[in-house]
Amino acid sequence: MTHGHLVVIGGSVAGLMAAAAASDRFERVTVVERDQLSGSPEPRAGVPQGNQVHVILPLGLERMEEVLPGIRQNFVERGCLEFDQLATVPMMSESGWKVRVDSANAVAFRRPLFELVIRERVLALGNVSIRHGSARGFLLSDDRSRVLGTRLRDGSEIEADFVVDASGRRTKSPAWLQDLGFGAPTEVRANAYMGYATQFVRIPEGVLDGALGLVVHPAPGHHRGGVLLPADNGVHSLSAIGMMRDYPPREREGFLDFLDDARSPLLGEIARRSVPVSDINTYHQDGNLRRRWEDESLPDRLLVVGDASASFNPIYGQGMTLAASGGRLLKAALDTRSSLDALAHDVQGDLARVIDAAFSMSAAVDSMFEGSECTNFTPPSPEECAYAAAVEELATVDPEVALAAGMAAFYIDPEVLRTEAIQLRVEDWIDSERTTGGADPGRYPTEVRSTDSTAAAATF
Ligand SMILES: Cc1cc2nc3c(=O)[nH]c(=O)nc-3n(C[C@H](O)[C@H](O)[C@H](O)COP(=O)(O)OP(=O)(O)OC[C@H]3O[C@@H](n4cnc5c(N)ncnc54)[C@H](O)[C@@H]3O)c2cc1C
Repeated sequence: MTHGHLVVIGGSVAGLMAAAAASDRFERVTVVERDQLSGSPEPRAGVPQGNQVHVILPLGLERMEEVLPGIRQNFVERGCLEFDQLATVPMMSESGWKVRVDSANAVAFRRPLFELVIRERVLALGNVSIRHGSARGFLLSDDRSRVLGTRLRDGSEIEADFVVDASGRRTKSPAWLQDLGFGAPTEVRANAYMGYATQFVRIPEGVLDGALGLVVHPAPGHHRGGVLLPADNGVHSLSAIGMMRDYPPREREGFLDFLDDARSPLLGEIARRSVPVSDINTYHQDGNLRRRWEDESLPDRLLVVGDASASFNPIYGQGMTLAASGGRLLKAALDTRSSLDALAHDVQGDLARVIDAAFSMSAAVDSMFEGSECTNFTPPSPEECAYAAAVEELATVDPEVALAAGMAAFYIDPEVLRTEAIQLRVEDWIDSERTTGGADPGRYPTEVRSTDSTAAAATF
């Protein structure tokens, strides 16, 4: 044990991962959470997105394992489904059905169960406790050089050697810091005004023809789409997704009608055969929001992680992977350094590089929706758009490109699509002026095709 007391503001995924990451380097870790947390997997007010579809990317799962070894198995034991999304969930893009290939495993669940499993693991560490309360500001040293803890709404103060803000997209840290005379971080935005409506359902035997779900994302030019994904314990998440303020409704007939308007009629057809096990819940979000904390001269010993640092259009499923990455980076820094001085600044910089990759992928696509609004973000050039469009097309006929596109998304690594081999294929395709000829949107591919790099992908 090297340090004294760590305080984490926010007890959702990012806060829990930070607490777990730091627990063996601090004598005590206190997670301050404004919601009263129960021992059952219930949606809660502080995480309003909790009753929407959630899946963790393979990269996020790996990062979680690095911080909490065995967590993957804990999820599976509680009924969360480990599955290879590219192989088992047919996916329709603007250009048609993507080729199905073996790739890497994600895990599916209802979000409150996922969080509960992590919370149980974190509390079992022994030196982490959760304090019910709402943070209202930071305590600052007399010379204003470092944060000394947090002040709660009830007037009490908690002193700490290091503070992590994991209070989510609506963090008040920028305002608290401004009140103390510091600058607020520059905000980067790419807004395509997305709306979700999610219902948990059971899918009768035989309806999915051997697949585990279906993804028909909205795209520029077609604002309505949806997903059917496995969750846990035999339940599926069924979500209607609309872009550019075309929000799906909360009542079942309208919800099903909305799904009928996706580019594949299969989504609505399957949805109509599903058996609801929950109400329909809705969620609206302006879009991608990144705060450039790494550029600010903040008081020392303050780190901002999770959605408080960047939150994304959830279609791309990146948020919890970034939350886990924040924890993993904090752990790496604490394991290799004996002093806490300047550690927060360096971890914030490391995290910024991961965020940049994620943001560049989600914001680039969202900025292509007509009428989307960007602040401090430059949309991709026409050449970059042409390359991305060619990748989408090729992924409907070429298993190697389908795999690369999937792995770039799963591992938040756009460079996977810029290897020499992939570039050659894409440039050949663009030069040939071929088109895919269109696929029948009413029939998805049932074959899982093999790739040269499937084996390599498994150890990516
Ligand atoms: C519709 C939707 C679908 C999504 N789907 C996915 C997906 O498939 N995959 C994925 O990886 N991500 C997804 N996300 C993103 C994911 O939900 C977040 O990235 C994830 O919850 C991590 O966020 P966080 O822990 O930083 O903040 P949050 O989950 O927002 O939690 C913040 C916590 O801080 C607490 N808090 C806030 N203020 C205070 C305060 N002042 N004092 C004390 N406590 C406070 C809150 O009560 C809450 O517990 C989705 C998001 C949305 C909106």
